[in-house]
Amino acid sequence: MPCVRDDGRVRYWEQYEHLALRIAADLRTRFSTADVHFRPVEPYGWVIEVFDGELAWGTIGTQFDLDDDGDLSPQQVQRELVHQCADVFDNLWPDALTDPWPPCPEDPGHPLQPRLVRGVACWTCLEDLSVTVPLRSLPSLGG
Ligand SMILES: [Zn+2]
Repeated sequence: MPCVRDDGRVRYWEQYEHLALRIAADLRTRFSTADVHFRPVEPYGWVIEVFDGELAWGTIGTQFDLDDDGDLSPQQVQRELVHQCADVFDNLWPDALTDPWPPCPEDPGHPLQPRLVRGVACWTCLEDLSVTVPLRSLPSLGG
């Protein structure tokens, strides 16, 4: 059951689920059956799990930068998106796949990188800072 607080923020586990869905949405532009979950592990940590259909990419431990109430503010959600995305791409991306992803719309020879741009989690080109695509908007690249 949804647990929305007076200030409109949802409890952290729903926020994590939203984070996972947003990361999965971009992954699915490359892997149509990609799935992302955050799972609590004892005593008090989390792991990100990524699956491509039946194939498990693996898990990595993670933690969240929570506020004093144990929640994620909208700003923190954007920061976590960048952090968790970078974690997935740095640590779980299959080694066998060496093609740049997501490809830069200006030059498909190099990938975009997750970064915070004016407080919004975006895919950005490190060579042309005018290239920014909000996370979860990769289909708008036209690919
Ligand atoms: Zn570029």
